[in-house]
Amino acid sequence: MLSLLILLLIAIGIVWYLNFRSISISVEGRQISVPANTTYAKLQSDGYLKANNGNLLAVTGTILTKGAGASWQAFDNGVSVSDLNQVVPDGAVITCKNGSDDTEPVTSSNSKVIPWTWQIAGGNKFNFYNSTLHVLTQIGKDGEGATQTGDISGQTVVENEYIKMQPQIMKDISAETKGKEKVVCLTYDDGPSPDWTQKILKVLQQNKVKATFFEIGNVVKNYPSVSKDVVTAGMELCSHSYNHSPSHYLNKLSEAEAKKMAEEGVAAIKDATGVTTTYLRPPGGNLNATAIKGIGSIITAYIGWNIDTDDWQRPGANKIYQTALNGVKKIGSGSVILMHDGGGDRSETLAATKKLIPKLKKMGYSFITIDQLIKIRKSELGLK
Ligand SMILES: [Zn+2]
Repeated sequence: MLSLLILLLIAIGIVWYLNFRSISISVEGRQISVPANTTYAKLQSDGYLKANNGNLLAVTGTILTKGAGASWQAFDNGVSVSDLNQVVPDGAVITCKNGSDDTEPVTSSNSKVIPWTWQIAGGNKFNFYNSTLHVLTQIGKDGEGATQTGDISGQTVVENEYIKMQPQIMKDISAETKGKEKVVCLTYDDGPSPDWTQKILKVLQQNKVKATFFEIGNVVKNYPSVSKDVVTAGMELCSHSYNHSPSHYLNKLSEAEAKKMAEEGVAAIKDATGVTTTYLRPPGGNLNATAIKGIGSIITAYIGWNIDTDDWQRPGANKIYQTALNGVKKIGSGSVILMHDGGGDRSETLAATKKLIPKLKKMGYSFITIDQLIKIRKSELGLK
């Protein structure tokens, strides 16, 4: 009985000795007392050892997974501790070190295409309504180089760009010419119309003035001879995309879909008239960076307006005339007047045009096309 009691006391003594007695150790130069069963890992999780695992980095250097790099290390008297879950010996002198970062596995390529990117000169964010003319001043060209692509992140870094990627650069400028010339652009959208386009052409021709027409590709297909009349009359013919329905607005499409819209719009005009335009006015003024990237250099200028007559709402011929006139008085040379020859009854637009041209002529204005306007602004655009 007594011997059993002694055995029990010895057992309790051993358990106490291993777990509950205190040991004295030095941690980063600081003397502390901890329970005898303390491990190196516990010292770290309790904040005595200020060291952490390294991170797993993407090939680009950004953190993929925090703490997934090499393990932090502990040293006892300068000797690396192989197992951080082992118990710290009494009197240990412990220091520590952060784990190093690891980089994800990569796949290397010696001839990878570096796709062109696009930017707005001056680093602005694209907004169609910021300015009237959005002109490409440098076409984007793919580069080629040796690259490393992260197997986890899918991100690519270029090691050696032996064919330099050329970004596409677009310059946004106002249409105002700021010079001493007095010019305006009449622009008509949504045609061709078998009812109204020729009537408007007749007024323009009688007054010996030029205007610019932005036509919808799928409408051109229906009335190719009307489109041809626009060209024959000496007017400038540009694209208003292929499909004007809200579901086809260019800012609602993927890069590939926007490209298709622009291509088909340009092709419809080319098929009907032989003219290849590279100017586009987006339906409803809806355009975004995705569409511009997708469309690439099929279109070299996106054209807005600085006077909106709202003629499509049929506010009356006089209202249309007054809105246009007041706009020109305010903006001056480089006014781009938005009107419509297609999309419905345009008798008001026709009447307003008849009245507006002689009035602006009297004020000393001459009428130019969008292409002529861009040429006037070419020094500001940095174009040759
Ligand atoms: Zn339109």
